[in-house]
Amino acid sequence: MGRARQLALFAIAVMALAAGYAGWRAYQRTHPEQCYACQRPIHAHSRTVATAKGGSRLFCCPACALSEQRQEGKAVRVTELTAVNSGAKLSPNDAYVVKGSDVNMCAHAHEMIDADKRAADVHYDRCAPSILAFAQEREAIQFSREHGGTVLPFREIAASYAK
Ligand SMILES: [Zn+2]
Repeated sequence: MGRARQLALFAIAVMALAAGYAGWRAYQRTHPEQCYACQRPIHAHSRTVATAKGGSRLFCCPACALSEQRQEGKAVRVTELTAVNSGAKLSPNDAYVVKGSDVNMCAHAHEMIDADKRAADVHYDRCAPSILAFAQEREAIQFSREHGGTVLPFREIAASYAK
């Protein structure tokens, strides 16, 4: 193999690596966080933080965090919610939720990454019925008028999952 040819091959290899790395970085940027429980990419407007198994964990949505509690039979304490309409951080003590509306960000994200497994997930989805958080009760009521579902203080829904 001539030297020029070796150099050309080397250059191609370097470019391929660079392209791969750039692609990986782009993937990291668009999927910066994954749910602790279900590994779905976390939607910025349903991000939920909860203490589970002795540490602070990130969940894709409140429904997923509360399902974790039900499945593990151990206390999962939600410490932070995200307002679905603004992306603002909310304290669980003051937040209101709409449960079971026609909007489920997790189901949507899941379809995109895992379309062929959808059929299996229809039977049970830990993120359904969806739970969306709001700062104000009136925002939650307004949302439920358009998308259905039940409006509840977050505290109440957390207590109902703890049973
Ligand atoms: Zn999840």
